[in-house]
Amino acid sequence: MDRETLTAQLRAFRDEALRELAAARGEDALEALDVHYLGRRGGVLSGLMRGIGALPAEDRPAVGAVVNEIRSEVEGALAAARAAARADALAVRLDHEGEDMTAPGRPIARGVPHPIVETVARIAEVFGQFGFVTYEGPEVESDITNFQMLNIPPDHPARDLWDTLYVDLDGGLLRTHTSPGQIRVMHAEQPPIRALLPGRCFRYEAVDASHASEFFQVEGLMVDEGTSMADLRGQLDEFGHAMFGRGRATRFRPGYYPFTEPSVAFDIGCVMCDGSGCPACSRTGWMTILGAGMVHPVVLQYGGIDPERYQGFAFGMGVERIAMLRHGIGDLRLFLENDLRFLEQFR
Ligand SMILES: [Zn+2]
Repeated sequence: MDRETLTAQLRAFRDEALRELAAARGEDALEALDVHYLGRRGGVLSGLMRGIGALPAEDRPAVGAVVNEIRSEVEGALAAARAAARADALAVRLDHEGEDMTAPGRPIARGVPHPIVETVARIAEVFGQFGFVTYEGPEVESDITNFQMLNIPPDHPARDLWDTLYVDLDGGLLRTHTSPGQIRVMHAEQPPIRALLPGRCFRYEAVDASHASEFFQVEGLMVDEGTSMADLRGQLDEFGHAMFGRGRATRFRPGYYPFTEPSVAFDIGCVMCDGSGCPACSRTGWMTILGAGMVHPVVLQYGGIDPERYQGFAFGMGVERIAMLRHGIGDLRLFLENDLRFLEQFR
């Protein structure tokens, strides 16, 4: 092999490669030509370059320069052919898909608040008009805050009302009601206090249409000088009417809670039969929607508030029950199932 022969072979290689590249259609065909002509192992150019080793040493640099020039010429042609092939492919695809760049965008599906969230927001809105501010408390409480500071000592029979779930964490438990929030607010704030405490609660319950092991409550607490049963009755009456209609009958009955004295149950006229009596209200014409009362002086003391100077009232309601009555929902489990067919009705 001499210098002239090898140089001629290199030029012939270049001419053939450029011709083939110009004729090739599609990125796959270009890839195959790349491997065939420029592949490091087995490529045509690699084969020609082996001939350089057979040349006299003084001829090698000049031929090496020709190789580099031809390689970059072929590589340049290959890159240009690839860019053109990509542009062609895009044009074909756009044409095929009939993309209309002037078409309006696709609408983004809007979610809706869960009916429990919506009900809590409505309750907060009504009490917000009376000056109540919303607070949050932790879901893991202790025996002291969940029971003892609410006037429920360890041997108190009222503990039978709550089937408590204990957690393996410093004697903690999952709060059985939102009432420990009363203690937390009293520790954090000075009277006058108007606090609303919505949140999730937990009890060891057999699940059925009206019971679940997790559920929501909204707690309310008002503490001020001279707060009386009249304040409690007036504000709860207003709440009942705001939630269930101006003409709705309301009544208070004596009740019992360890942390209020006196305690009451607050009823509204049955939303199904308007008071004439039906199976939903056990033929009484009334439905209980919350429990309330004047805060027990012992609880005020545990909250660091002087019961000689201040009085307070508190109430607690189950959010699921309120939502079920407002929307005519018959089964509490629907709130937990996340079935969109159910949830999208509250749009
Ligand atoms: Zn009824």
